[in-house]
Amino acid sequence: LSDKLDKALHVLKGHGSITEVNVAETLKEVRRALLDADVNFKIAKDFTNRVKEKALGQDVLTTLQPGQLMVKIVKDELTELMGGDVEGINLSGTPSIILMSGLQGSGKTTFSGKLANYLKNKKTKKPLLVACDVYRPAAIDQLHVVGDQIGVEVFSDRGNTDPVAISQAGIAHAKANGHNVVIIDTAGRLAVDEAMMTEISNIHKAISPQETLFVVDSMTGQDAVNTAKSFNDVLNFDGVILTKLDGDTRGGAAISIKSVVNKPIKFIGTGEKMEAIDVFYPSRMADRILGMGDVVSLVERAQEQFDEVEARKLQKKIAKNQFGFDDFLKQIQQIKKMGNMKDLMGMIPGAGKMLKDVDIDDDAFKGIEAIIHSMTPSERTNPAIINASRKIRIGKGSGTSVQQVNQLLKQFNQMSKMMKMMQGGGGKKMMQMMQN
Ligand code: GDP
Ligand code: MG
Repeated sequence: LSDKLDKALHVLKGHGSITEVNVAETLKEVRRALLDADVNFKIAKDFTNRVKEKALGQDVLTTLQPGQLMVKIVKDELTELMGGDVEGINLSGTPSIILMSGLQGSGKTTFSGKLANYLKNKKTKKPLLVACDVYRPAAIDQLHVVGDQIGVEVFSDRGNTDPVAISQAGIAHAKANGHNVVIIDTAGRLAVDEAMMTEISNIHKAISPQETLFVVDSMTGQDAVNTAKSFNDVLNFDGVILTKLDGDTRGGAAISIKSVVNKPIKFIGTGEKMEAIDVFYPSRMADRILGMGDVVSLVERAQEQFDEVEARKLQKKIAKNQFGFDDFLKQIQQIKKMGNMKDLMGMIPGAGKMLKDVDIDDDAFKGIEAIIHSMTPSERTNPAIINASRKIRIGKGSGTSVQQVNQLLKQFNQMSKMMKMMQGGGGKKMMQMMQN
């Protein structure tokens, strides 16, 4: 155990700092990765410039290689750029009306079916699909096939050539028949033109959807930007659906679109089947976009080393007897991230034994985290001051009992003692204890 720590400490030696030169080198690689992924040139350039500023302003306080630190900054920035949290869709209306927009072939009809299926599986939703692509009889048939496949009703009116009227009739039908979600599938053209924009805009005005989604084929690469902009100018849509990510496209369109229209990407399509729908995760997309070459493995290595640097800081605190509940909380968060007890053992002497019998899932830590969160900063750094009245307060604040607070304090004390023993050269003995 301490061997492992020692080794980590020896391996970690300072590697210099971030300089203009190594920044330029790394950014060249990053820019190439972005262009390979079909990110718009100007956007790629703006992006790397921003990263450069960030990197140069950064204190090099870690022992990372500058290149690795750079890549880590790139990954974080990219994730941030594509939108931090996962965004859901607005289902507030009665019924909630969802309007699909996008070019022909982008995947609107397919995605309408996928979304209906996805919502239907949530049990509380009873969707209705409405066929407003009036130009090709086959388009209506296609939606009916999809509807049959997933067991969702499809509203269509073959004699009618007015998509506005059909959408309104569809919504009326939904209200009369207890559907609480209406998904309106519309016609697209092969390229942006006036007629299509007027039509979708008229539908949009007539039905005031809660959610207007722009569907785009991720393989269209850079063209996607202009298309997205045109649709957004007219519809001010709420979210983007990126389809056909099952192909070998790296999905750079995600960045380009997000940069230009600044709307969240909500779902992705990953195949022709009705189940091939996924919530959009910016961080996964960042991995994918950086995918080629060694960039991702660089990111991973960078992350590992960040963790090791944290471990080293911790080691110092233990040595100085400054280990407190804040550090403990950090450790818990680490475990949750790793989900792996063994990794933890390598990082923090003593904690392993204490948590050995605990199942590593989020619930297992909820009580502990709640208790620590209810402590004041000074209680966290100096747990010795936690007297009886403080225990009562903490118990109440965390929704636990004084008994549970006591138990955590007891465990924490044991752990601190063990750590001190480790420091005091009792390492070997401890190791044996912990292995039993
Ligand atoms: P629409 O014209 O916008 O309604 O597009 P469609 O829904 O008809 O889709 C056009 C083609 O793309 C069809 O052949 C679909 O099967 C296919 N498609 C749609 N979404 C995906 C996807 O996520 N992955 C793959 N591989 N094909 C898709
Ligand atoms: Mg269609």
